[in-house]
Amino acid sequence: MSIEVSDSREQTVGGFTVRRALPRRGRRTVGAWCFADHMGPADVTEGSGLDVGPHPHMGLQTVTWLLDGQALHKDSLGSEQVISPGQLNLMTAGNAVAHAEEATGQYRGTLEGIQLWIAQPEATRNGAAAFEHHAELPQVELDGGMATVLVGEHEGLASPARHDTPLVGMDLDLRQRTHLPLRADFEYALIVMRGSVAVSGEKLVPGTLGHLGTGLDELDVEVAEASRVILLGGEPFGEPLMMWWNFVARSRAEIDAAYASWRDQDDRFGTVRSSLPLIPADPPFWQ
Ligand code: MN
Repeated sequence: MSIEVSDSREQTVGGFTVRRALPRRGRRTVGAWCFADHMGPADVTEGSGLDVGPHPHMGLQTVTWLLDGQALHKDSLGSEQVISPGQLNLMTAGNAVAHAEEATGQYRGTLEGIQLWIAQPEATRNGAAAFEHHAELPQVELDGGMATVLVGEHEGLASPARHDTPLVGMDLDLRQRTHLPLRADFEYALIVMRGSVAVSGEKLVPGTLGHLGTGLDELDVEVAEASRVILLGGEPFGEPLMMWWNFVARSRAEIDAAYASWRDQDDRFGTVRSSLPLIPADPPFWQ
């Protein structure tokens, strides 16, 4: 087994420092997973919290999973949902959706989580937007810890979350060396959120992505200390993607149209009931 380790890039999103593990140069997707931001840990106080104003998406699903704290999701479908650790928010953009991610107003303490994007395939990417909240997800006992199936299925245990292509996303809560069966037709990657693990002798810590590729039927994780690890996997995504800002598309023309709709605030993306200011888009670099 060979693993390719790359460093995440630090960015600021909504007042929080995030470590962006995907996309990477030369590594844009893992299955249909096309974006991964590990946010926090950071303090939520009366004056500071998650503050991501209304912004648009198309052609992707957003998956939100918290290790600590609470956040409030609002979208142009009218959804308003507080999310806590152990729960999953999944928003499908299809042709157009807008959302905001806010502090709840009541919660004080640490906020830490991950936001992932899944590229939608041709069959659904121009379809309707949707939002799901799952208060409970299936858990599997492992030899060295516990896994929660966020999306997809593992060993016959399926998450109730919608997915449009064959993929899996799991949270691994590990205390000691762990073996996990994999699907040889999937490609996989690991993102460590807490602690320290090693695969094939390569150390993985927060702020790195370990890419495992395809053709593996088992994962052997050495666990140096109590660790939380996100495992992403999926059938290699065959469609060529064009990603710009919050849009996943297939051509510049599609992105130009989405950009113009958001700039002009026409009817396409709808309205989010948020007191935060709209996040403006910069023009695409080719304009
Ligand atoms: Mn978003």
